[in-house]
Amino acid sequence: MTPPAPPEQGVSLDPQDWNAFRAQARRMLEDALDHVEQVASGPVWRAPPAEARARFEQASPAAPAELAETHQRLLTDLLPYSSGNGHPAFMGWVQGAGTPVGMMGELMAAAMNANLGGRDHMPIAVERQIGLWAREWFRFPETSEGLFVTGASMANFMGVLAARTRAVGADVRRSGVAELKRPLTAYVARTAHGCIARAMDMAGLGSTALRLIETDQHHRINLAQLREAIAADRAAGMQPFLVVGTAGTVDVGAVDVLEGLADIALREDLWLHIDGALAALGVLSPAVAPLLAGIERADSIAFDFHKWGQVPYDAGYFLARDGERLRDTFASPAAYLRRDGRGLAGGDFWPCDYGPDLSRGFRALKTWLTFTTLGTDAIGAAIARTCELARMLAREVEARPELELLAPVALNIVCFRHLGADADTLNAEIVAELHESGRAAPSLTTIGGKIAIRAAIVNHRTGPADILNLVEGVLDTARGLARRVA
Ligand SMILES: *Cc1c(COP(=O)(O)O)cnc(C)c1O
Repeated sequence: MTPPAPPEQGVSLDPQDWNAFRAQARRMLEDALDHVEQVASGPVWRAPPAEARARFEQASPAAPAELAETHQRLLTDLLPYSSGNGHPAFMGWVQGAGTPVGMMGELMAAAMNANLGGRDHMPIAVERQIGLWAREWFRFPETSEGLFVTGASMANFMGVLAARTRAVGADVRRSGVAELKRPLTAYVARTAHGCIARAMDMAGLGSTALRLIETDQHHRINLAQLREAIAADRAAGMQPFLVVGTAGTVDVGAVDVLEGLADIALREDLWLHIDGALAALGVLSPAVAPLLAGIERADSIAFDFHKWGQVPYDAGYFLARDGERLRDTFASPAAYLRRDGRGLAGGDFWPCDYGPDLSRGFRALKTWLTFTTLGTDAIGAAIARTCELARMLAREVEARPELELLAPVALNIVCFRHLGADADTLNAEIVAELHESGRAAPSLTTIGGKIAIRAAIVNHRTGPADILNLVEGVLDTARGLARRVA
């Protein structure tokens, strides 16, 4: 019998001709930079054409292709059809715009291809440093720990889990919540983001165990009703364990009275988690920070670097006042994750002990590069400018008799509507027409039962001309629709 041949030497998936690859890679970098530099020049959105979609509908590719050819396909079929969140006329939902610096951070991180689950390497130190910055921004104590996650949805889920562990002890991780004698209940304003209810659901506590509290005329949680709901649940044999405050509600940008929530959490012995996905980073702006007073008293904060922080997607963050609570909630010893005092398996901060992920990318680098290169003063100024633009938009709306402002403007979100006949249908049509024309991209929400045009100004590229373009776009579109009916 002939012995099997040894595996071939020198075979890998790396380029065979590095010089040719470098030349092609530089062309790709130029195209990526062109895309970002010229992001404002085209329409904010265009529908992906059927031909472009069809060209992606191919069987799993067994044979190789030239990079020049796949690159060309990206240029024709992908880059022109983004969702437009980098464009200054994009005001839909709550989305950050990214920056060219952040893009370079992604590139460098991809070059390292680091896995930030743990171990002793420099990328972990970079992520750790951002935790120290967050500690400083939110005036959290030295016991605090934080880590990157996909987004605030995940960070809010972690807040629910950590609060649960604190309320009933880490044994619940083995026995499960079904064994609890008293059902756990949590509290949030009715206007909170849907991911809070989903977090309760995913934690096995059930979304009905989340009590939805009414709001005041500023769209903030009603503190008197909150106290009543907690008392009623205690009287009924429940165990209240968590109150979630929102810093920047997704529909109108309201900020709960965080000091009031912190007082109630203290008195009632509840975990206070802040969903600061949108607005927690307002602490970087001296103009916005006072609105967030009390956030420093939270037990945990969820926030998104990919929104007001302008870091490219995705870059969510979870920060806990007491890092040990996170270890209690997530650390799971395993033989193959053995820690050693020395060598690569050393290191004293293994993010996998503090959250649900084991393998984790290097989100910290694009964040570090963005913040270090641009500086927090400039990022804070961009945050403040979005709020100024929102106030400008509110004034423009109030100056037009055809338009009506539907909610007070606390931060950077403006909800308004056109008062034409059959207003709900009309406003939904206006928004769809604006998208399809590529002129502007606001989104829709419902305020007090009325369909509202919602402009969330998050993008650092948006300026006064884009605000006027939105207002005029709404009015022009309404006139166009009226002519079409006539
Ligand atoms: C965007 C947002 C979320 C969800 O955050 P993701 O990063 O999209 O997961 C949660 N809450 C609020 C208030 C938000 O604005």
